Amino acid sequence: TDFGYERVALGQKQGRVDAVFHSVARRYDLMNDLMSAGLHRAWKAQLVSMLRPSKGRPHRHLDVAGGTGDVAFRVLDAGGPRTAVTVLDINESMLRVGAERVPERFAGRIDFVTGNAESLPLPDATFDAYTIAFGIRNVPRIDLALAEARRVLKPGGRFLCLEFSQVDLPVLDRIYDAYSFHVIPRIGARVAGDAESYRYLVESIRKFPTRGAFAGLIEQAGFRHVTDRPLSGGIVAIHSGWKV
Ligand code: SAM
Repeated sequence: TDFGYERVALGQKQGRVDAVFHSVARRYDLMNDLMSAGLHRAWKAQLVSMLRPSKGRPHRHLDVAGGTGDVAFRVLDAGGPRTAVTVLDINESMLRVGAERVPERFAGRIDFVTGNAESLPLPDATFDAYTIAFGIRNVPRIDLALAEARRVLKPGGRFLCLEFSQVDLPVLDRIYDAYSFHVIPRIGARVAGDAESYRYLVESIRKFPTRGAFAGLIEQAGFRHVTDRPLSGGIVAIHSGWKV
């Protein structure tokens, strides 16, 4: 049946994504720096600055597809002593690297949960904010992930997503294409010994919905005041929505 076929395809997609991140977990942060020429730091800083976790009040935060904890550590640095973050990822290798790297000052305010963004093993209406950075593109069923984001947020909670987007500047788009298809797989081959996986990740960026279409999906999931903001000429974008 069509359904059976679709299930196999979705399973293959997730299986492939899992294999990539198992193999690169140890070198993941280095790869990020190399491949984005350090830009991912500025993009994540922008994400956290939009969040503005309260210094005084409790802030319960969920970072999905949180990998090695990079976004979570930034949220903890930006927040106050009553900010606590749950890092969720489908991949235990990535989480293990993150757990080993937790700075002493965050002890007791961060936990790591293995789980799927499509069916979060977390209770309803628990979090003040939900972030997902360079993660939703890897999730086979985006609509399920968005519905789950809304479910676990408290009323008044914020959804923020940082993801690759479409470059809309005429010259930058050509440079970016050349970089994606030639440079990224080569760095992947040199540093992670795996050009094929990185080729796959570049393709997954091409297949991801446009900013407008993705904003529409976020609205369909029931979020309000949905906005999208391109950064660095559209290489990435931050989508925001509120659960009201
Ligand atoms: N957020 C981190 C960052 O920005 O550095 C890590 C991003 S990394 C490119 C993508 C992460 O998504 C990987 O750690 C991968 O295991 C995770 N992932 C892929 N599919 C997932 C799913 N269905 N549910 C949860 N996490 C998933």
